[in-house]
Amino acid sequence: MNAMHTSIHHSAVFDHPEMDGHENIVFAQDHQTGLKAIIAVHDTTLGPALGGCRVWPYDSPYDALNDALRLSRGMTYKNSLAGLPLGGGKAVIIADPRKDKSVDLMEAFGRHVDRLSGTYITAEDVGVSPDDMEAVARFTDHVRGTKATGLGDPSPYTALGVFEGIKASVAHVFGSADLTGRTISVQGLGHVGYDVARQLHEAGAKLIVSDIHAPAVLKAIEAFGATAVDPAEAHMIEADVFTPCALGAGLNSRTIPHIQAKIVAGAANNQLQTPADGIALKKRGILYAPDYAINAGGVISITQVEPGGKDTVVREKTIAIGKTLSQIFVRAERENATPEQIADKMAEERLAAARKA
Ligand code: NAD
Repeated sequence: MNAMHTSIHHSAVFDHPEMDGHENIVFAQDHQTGLKAIIAVHDTTLGPALGGCRVWPYDSPYDALNDALRLSRGMTYKNSLAGLPLGGGKAVIIADPRKDKSVDLMEAFGRHVDRLSGTYITAEDVGVSPDDMEAVARFTDHVRGTKATGLGDPSPYTALGVFEGIKASVAHVFGSADLTGRTISVQGLGHVGYDVARQLHEAGAKLIVSDIHAPAVLKAIEAFGATAVDPAEAHMIEADVFTPCALGAGLNSRTIPHIQAKIVAGAANNQLQTPADGIALKKRGILYAPDYAINAGGVISITQVEPGGKDTVVREKTIAIGKTLSQIFVRAERENATPEQIADKMAEERLAAARKA
């Protein structure tokens, strides 16, 4: 109790360490269902704040608030850099997705989202299923990635963007985007990773694959003639590109000294454990494609609603991720900065220009 009081006292509300000019933070409760949620709207300069809803058994409301503040700010940057007419927001529900989640709970969340009148638009994130979002959608129109609103599963678009991003990275380092004969280590063969591997294989790359789920590895060996390695060694393999498509924080002080590849470019969120790890990669001469730039295909696909379920614009915007990355790499060299520092700058510049206008 004492520790809690101390933390309230020292990180009072408006000067909370993760506070970054957030516009609006809602603490939402529903007594009937036990819903406890935090909805953070970081910035609506570019449009309504879009970001997923995460269901997670946080140890304390303070941890949940930290996550909501940090993740909503991240969405402002991601949406800005992807050129979307959207601001950044995020919702967290304090609950165990396997034990506490119910249709009633998600509907109650939907009612709270609706009260924000479209300043916040929700979508799926960790711990939330497509069915959960259908429950939310019964009580608000301010939701994306449901049956009625878009193209369905965002993973193929995320994978397309990552594939284009790998080509842009290879072109920057080796002078040509041709993947024929390039060796690429793909870590994680889930919804995104497997589809990235497929495209790389079709483009002539040699694949080294890893996953803790053995059937996925066997499937990739059979379909792509891939070589399997232990997931814990995926980054140590001699390869041209290391493509993390599993979990976050894989780039850290323990792994970076052992990376053999010249490029790290993959789908996983929050790949750098700390900003210092980005600097460590640069020092080792390894090109890093900032995660939120290269994995934006999914958010592009859930927000760009086109008539008749067409995906022409979505594909165009997703393919443009390659061009954005090329710009980031060139500018990082010119300004002696890391690519993620430049990505942040470019996102901030678009915001600043929009504020001026
Ligand atoms: P997924 O759950 O379908 O796949 C993850 C895969 O990684 C699984 O096959 C799992 O077995 C494997 N894995 C877990 N731990 C591992 C480890 N230690 N080593 C090797 N493999 C491991 O998830 P996904 O949708 O494919 O997403 C992959 C990553 O991309 C995540 O970090 C996610 O946040 C990020 N991402 C996904 C999307 C999307 O559209 N799905 C969009 C943006 C970012």
